[in-house]
Amino acid sequence: MEAIRIESLSSDLKYAVNAFFESGTLGCYTCNTCTVECPVNRNVGRLDPRKVVRMTAFGMKEELLESVDIWLCMQCRKCSNVCPQKVEPAPAIYFFRNLALKENRVTGEFTRFIDQTERYIQEARKQAYTLALGAWRGGKAFSVEEVIKKAFVAAAGNERNAERSTSTLKVEHLVSDGLKETGFTQCLTCRECTVSCIVSRSIGSFDPVKIMRTYYLGQEDKILASPDLWLCISCETCSEVCKQGVRGSALINRLKNLAIEREIMPSGIMGELAELDRALHEIRAEVIYRAWENRKETRFFDLSSEVEKITGS
Ligand code: SF4
Ligand code: SF4
Ligand code: SF4
Ligand code: SF4
Repeated sequence: MEAIRIESLSSDLKYAVNAFFESGTLGCYTCNTCTVECPVNRNVGRLDPRKVVRMTAFGMKEELLESVDIWLCMQCRKCSNVCPQKVEPAPAIYFFRNLALKENRVTGEFTRFIDQTERYIQEARKQAYTLALGAWRGGKAFSVEEVIKKAFVAAAGNERNAERSTSTLKVEHLVSDGLKETGFTQCLTCRECTVSCIVSRSIGSFDPVKIMRTYYLGQEDKILASPDLWLCISCETCSEVCKQGVRGSALINRLKNLAIEREIMPSGIMGELAELDRALHEIRAEVIYRAWENRKETRFFDLSSEVEKITGS
């Protein structure tokens, strides 16, 4: 981690952020759990939620608002979910983004571009996972580079159409204790988890409730073979927000393990998908760096052609 260089101090900032979120950046004891768990930090080595928290506590408003790092955040909330001190780095970052816009540090175009990038990368991720899982199940080898290129071509042409469920009622499930412990049978289908899920926000067809309900309705084979399981990034936000105590993230992780145990998916799948994720995160970060250079422009460059330049497709 780069050293924090304090050049500006805003004495009211830490109070504003802490009051806003009712949770203390001052309570951070710098354990680093949030940073280790942050998917962006893990994949591209940039964005350090612990550092954001400390900079907030120091009142370093200028440095935070002039840093591209707050725009690299996916707002998945993993950092907030894992913090033993109940500090909330994710909403603090959100606060700074809004402040940056309010103070004209970035344009509205820039913020829309960031949102568009998030959706585009997640859609490409879905396409990449579908291609990779199809290749594995067909026993074919593939290269990460090729899959990524094809995934972006597919993502560019894809409309965000939410899939209509074709489930037929088939209540013949045999639920093991390990799965029951996740409390998924208590689900009231309120969809609070869906609206809070970072992946659902970008991929209309991905829905933690749909995964739970598909399993609950006895369509086990269908859900164990679905790419949807693997799109979940285990951020645990669905579990945190559920008033019914359902641990959606734990259920999905157990279903992933079941798919491997039953050899529906190969045992090395986690590592292979992590390679795809790393490649996608690098492309995402590069797009955001380029956009950051243009953050005060009112006209923006074309996202898919920037991705084409980066991937060389
Ligand atoms: S997990 Fe919490 S206490 Fe630990 S460094 Fe992050 S914000 Fe601080
Ligand atoms: S919200 Fe997610 S991406 Fe953003 S800092 Fe926290 S863990 Fe990292
Ligand atoms: S938040 Fe809980 S009760 Fe609501 S849909 Fe999700 S799992 Fe079900
Ligand atoms: S379904 Fe997965 S990605 Fe979505 S909120 Fe739950 S753990 Fe996070």
